[in-house]
Amino acid sequence: MSPSLAFYYRGSPTLSLYNKMMPMSPSHKIVSVAVPLPLRQPFDFLVPAGLAEIVVGTRVRVPFGARKLIGIVVELKDRSSHPTEKLKPLLEVLDTETLFDSHLWATLQWISRYYLAPIGEVIDSAMPVKLRQGEQLAPASSKSWSLSETGRFSPIEELQRAPLQLAIIKRFMKDSTLSSHDFKNESGSWRQAIQALLAKKWLVEQIKPPELKCLDHDAIGEPSSIKLNAEQQASVDTLAKLADNHKFSCSLLHGVTGSGKTEVYFAVMQRVITRGRQVLMLVPEIGLTPQLIRRVQEAFMCPLVVMHSGLNNTERHHAWWYARRGDAKIIIGTRSAVFSSLPDLGLIIVDEEHDASFKQQDGVRYQARDVAIYRAKQHAIPIVLGSATPSLESYAHAQSGRYHGLRLNQRATEAALPIIDLFDTRRLPCTDGLSPPMLAAVSNTLDQGKQVMLFLNRRGYAPVLYCSACGHTSKCHRCDAHLTYHRHANKMRCHHCGFEGGAAKQCSNCQQLTMVEVGEGTQRVEDALSTRFPDARLLRIDRDTTRHKGELGELLEQARSGAADIILGTQLLTKGHDFPNVAMVGILGADQGLYSTDFRSSETLFQQIIQVAGRAGRRDSIGRVYIQTAFPDNPFFDWVRAHNFDGFAQFLMAERRSAGYPPFGFFALLRAESTHQVKALQFLRQAKADIVPQPGVRTMDAIPAPMERRAGKYRAQLLICSEQRSALNATLQAWLQRIDGDHARHKPGAAVRWSLDVDPLDHY
Ligand code: ADP
Ligand code: ZN
Repeated sequence: MSPSLAFYYRGSPTLSLYNKMMPMSPSHKIVSVAVPLPLRQPFDFLVPAGLAEIVVGTRVRVPFGARKLIGIVVELKDRSSHPTEKLKPLLEVLDTETLFDSHLWATLQWISRYYLAPIGEVIDSAMPVKLRQGEQLAPASSKSWSLSETGRFSPIEELQRAPLQLAIIKRFMKDSTLSSHDFKNESGSWRQAIQALLAKKWLVEQIKPPELKCLDHDAIGEPSSIKLNAEQQASVDTLAKLADNHKFSCSLLHGVTGSGKTEVYFAVMQRVITRGRQVLMLVPEIGLTPQLIRRVQEAFMCPLVVMHSGLNNTERHHAWWYARRGDAKIIIGTRSAVFSSLPDLGLIIVDEEHDASFKQQDGVRYQARDVAIYRAKQHAIPIVLGSATPSLESYAHAQSGRYHGLRLNQRATEAALPIIDLFDTRRLPCTDGLSPPMLAAVSNTLDQGKQVMLFLNRRGYAPVLYCSACGHTSKCHRCDAHLTYHRHANKMRCHHCGFEGGAAKQCSNCQQLTMVEVGEGTQRVEDALSTRFPDARLLRIDRDTTRHKGELGELLEQARSGAADIILGTQLLTKGHDFPNVAMVGILGADQGLYSTDFRSSETLFQQIIQVAGRAGRRDSIGRVYIQTAFPDNPFFDWVRAHNFDGFAQFLMAERRSAGYPPFGFFALLRAESTHQVKALQFLRQAKADIVPQPGVRTMDAIPAPMERRAGKYRAQLLICSEQRSALNATLQAWLQRIDGDHARHKPGAAVRWSLDVDPLDHY
């Protein structure tokens, strides 16, 4: 290797050896590099002479204006057929092997095409932050420390004048080994204290590679002791056959709440893992509980990694690394785990496939479930989507035979599905959101020593403060929304932009002490319940009580273990949690979802009610579910009461078919926002004029968003509908090319920010 080349490589000896052995390849002297910027095309760079062959999917450092960026090589080009005068040489090659398995690579390209997202941003979101920052592929070994003989037997009084060292030694007396991870919440000087203790030989240091969690590396667990019922067995038989085919297949496991879907997943996973292949299990944000992880760990004695947004960058890098090496056999994670590089992937499971958290709502707006399906196709493996309340999209595919439809109509345990009754709030006086029969039902259930669960999808104390003298209400000055009153903190908070202000009894308009609380959130119901049932242990689970890492898991665990009598919460309670002792579920404030402008709202409401209701009576007794509503005659509730998902789904499908809505039509939403009210709309009107619709594609009018002003920005949207995905994609692709090519005319100016959302879930 020539001396100048050392500059291009980081100084690892194995790497230079590797380079010497690699054949020189004179034909590939230009690389196309995708950089992590919202730019649609990759950029070409020269490969300095003498460099070994570079492979697609590796990181390189490139000059970009005044900056240096880390990009990914997406193509190798032949120098002879491309002009090279203007090209700059790349600065550094960071990897010798591609970061992504070939099927994942193909999937990333598809995401870029299908969601019309810049490839650099797509690839960037698929990489752990540490790798984006240029850290080496293999994670560094971690340091840990333990007490030495000296440390154990020296009198600690010797540390009297070094209080931090003393405190640290006391911690080591409790826990024999600690790593930097254990000190991450300490002030910065703990490192010096550790160094001092190492110098005194009170501590010894161990260096080891990051740990891969599992109970036993080699042994694979015995199949679970639960005997599957006939429905479960039939589903397992079908899925096992599909898994043996070594072909792509997509199945929808549609099983009522408590039907034992997890046992079905486990049986199929077992089959795949025994063959040494990897399983990717995607779960919703709040479905990834310690309970689920424990269940998986108990069922499979094999190496497992967990990926979720609560991991720090190092933990994520480690999980990604073990998945990519094929060491981790089970990868459980939320949305972004679908980007794990998995060399031996044999099966994908998407639990609670209807859950909205699978859709990324900013940046690259992918739907992880759909990405997983595409990926399964690439790997030629089976994918199983599971839910008690499937999305209409998946349900329609199971009906048409595109997916294998598997049903579990019975609960797995002795328990029957709960009985659902309505309380008509037009005729009942409600205090703090609770009607007399609801309170009586709570009281009865508590008397029987059973748990109560109450669902109200609104946090805070009251959604509005209203002046009874002048009619003034508490509005956010940055959003078209009311401020929510939070009584415990005595604050007014905007749930849309995060604004926080003091709460006052005095009206800011007429100065009288006449502000009253209107409506109720979980805090108000909590206060009312604790007054009414002073002896009951009450647990409130909403975003305000679960702000910190691990809090949600802890609260759910408390609820499950029976440490609470009443569990009150928002939609955080809806996800497949198994609370064995809940005998009664009360649903408050369901009506909001019934008459909303969003065409998906009744689908979502149905899913939420069935999911929450499904928490009732999971063991022996029959569960009771009570819904307070002002619209008891709405046919919606007939389907709910009969647990008739099919009936409701058929109704929705007919409605959607005639309107050309998903899943019978395809949508893309172009959103724009600006601090100037007209500019967002202007940009979208121009876009509508510029979009040339292919046959079957319709462009609606640009309109203000349902909540026009949010965080000081005016928002507008333009809906593009199509009978076919391909026509929609081609139309938008052509429009994007046009605006990229003709900046002067189409450029919205710095005042407007816009984004394109293919298959949008939310229409605001
Ligand atoms: P789902 O995810 O379909 O709502 P789970 O998989 O959580 O249901 O199962 C509900 C409960 O039923 C769990 O406690 C599980 O252990 C139990 N269970 C599952 N299958 C069986 C079975 N065949 N026999 C007895 N209990 C079962
Ligand atoms: Zn606001």
